[in-house]
Amino acid sequence: MLDSNCTFCRIVAGDIPSTKVYEDDQAYAFRDLNPQAPTHVLIVPKEHIESLNDIAQGDEALLGHLLRLAPKIANQFGMAESGFRAVINTGENGGQTVWHLHVHLLGGRPMTWPPG
Ligand code: 5GP
Ligand code: ZN
Repeated sequence: MLDSNCTFCRIVAGDIPSTKVYEDDQAYAFRDLNPQAPTHVLIVPKEHIESLNDIAQGDEALLGHLLRLAPKIANQFGMAESGFRAVINTGENGGQTVWHLHVHLLGGRPMTWPPG
């Protein structure tokens, strides 16, 4: 179900322009507007799910699909071998600012740990 108040639902619907890097029947991936690495892609389910806290048992396959797209898209950008980071910020303390589940795919530079 699309939520017309949700930025990422609007991006999936094409109401807000985005730079698409991948799409299938369940998922859409596009470049982050404010990239934190040379390659910064957001992978989202087409269905509106607010966060990891809202994943139900029936969503396990979808979640697995989104995660599997991280190395697939990383490979598309030639950064699967060199490595990448896949992050799902969840809730306020997790740093989530857009309330539509998304996997950040970051690469093209070495990452540090711990995150801020
Ligand atoms: P969060 O902070 O929720 O984990 O990540 C939200 C991400 O969405 C941020 O990295 C932010 O730059 C990105 N973002 C927010 N609004 C838009 C938008 O309209 N278009 C694109 N491409 N990215 C967005
Ligand atoms: Zn949404």
